[in-house]
Amino acid sequence: MRDLSLWFKKIARPLPWRQNHDPYRIWISEVMLQQTQVETVLGYYERFLKKFPTLESLAESKEQEVLTLWSGLGYYRRAKNLRLGAQHLKKRGGEFPRTREEILKVPGIGPYTAGAVLSIAFDLPEPLVDGNVNRVFARYFGIKDPIQSSKAQKFFWAQAAEWVQQAESPRIHNQALMELGSLICKKGVPLCHPCPLSKSCVAFKKDLQLKLPISIPRKETQELHWIGVLFHTKKKNGDTLYFVKQNIETDWWAGLWDFPMITKPLKLKWEKAPELLEQKWGRKLKQIPINHVQHSVTHHKIQVAPFLIESSKNLLGLSGRWLPLKEIEELPLSALAKKIFRQLAIC
Ligand code: SF4
Repeated sequence: MRDLSLWFKKIARPLPWRQNHDPYRIWISEVMLQQTQVETVLGYYERFLKKFPTLESLAESKEQEVLTLWSGLGYYRRAKNLRLGAQHLKKRGGEFPRTREEILKVPGIGPYTAGAVLSIAFDLPEPLVDGNVNRVFARYFGIKDPIQSSKAQKFFWAQAAEWVQQAESPRIHNQALMELGSLICKKGVPLCHPCPLSKSCVAFKKDLQLKLPISIPRKETQELHWIGVLFHTKKKNGDTLYFVKQNIETDWWAGLWDFPMITKPLKLKWEKAPELLEQKWGRKLKQIPINHVQHSVTHHKIQVAPFLIESSKNLLGLSGRWLPLKEIEELPLSALAKKIFRQLAIC
């Protein structure tokens, strides 16, 4: 454990959330970093903390403001839960709990985030296991069970608890373990020679580094075809307005704003998309196609063919708003809507 902590003290990257031990800042960073690369998080983190520098400011925010700042980071439930979590903590005096049991009551805080906040902010010997730790442990202990299996997870959490309890500083130790997974014991080919754990690593000794970890195969990617319906109309002053709608709970990307979409059966050729729209409205409408847009989201590959359709009415019966492009840009748009917006802005 000591070697690992010493290594981290030497190489730790000067990341903005490492500037102090403020639990609020650490919480925000840990939530942003879930499923997201450090490089991507940096700009979002800075903007988020500029707008919401304290727990109180986040608790008093509007959901739309939080979503606007989160727009493009994906997994929007995280943003909504941060706000709910801040409200929960504010009601309880604005202090972060210092026990696992209490901190797990905060909306959106699960076992990993609980361990991260308690250890990094308060230096408490609380374990954490994330994707990086899964990989380090699977290799270090030579675990051949799939890392997602309950057997492997039980083992990893027990080991993480044992290690952090022995550590001189839980704060340093837990960050070191994750940093090791991120920089040294990387996905693909790990850099075993400079690794502080190599002397006792099973995978290194048995030359299993490239065979471990074992993962349950991912679900196959599903392809989806959508037609983007971009209603637009000109005002008397010459400005063009576009119709946008806010996604409801049952939609993809609930709470964010989008252009309306219609599903096209995969078997139907793209050339037939205009006919599909004409059938829908029982009449011909002027349709101008713009470039197709691709978007990938957990196990789905979405291809969208957007059409500009001149109409002063939203013919899909959806509730929404008619806005000029410069106001649409200010909304918390889904990542897909942003891609379509970019196409619109250049056409
Ligand atoms: S020695 Fe290699 S495989 Fe083992 S923990 Fe270090 S980087 Fe990972």
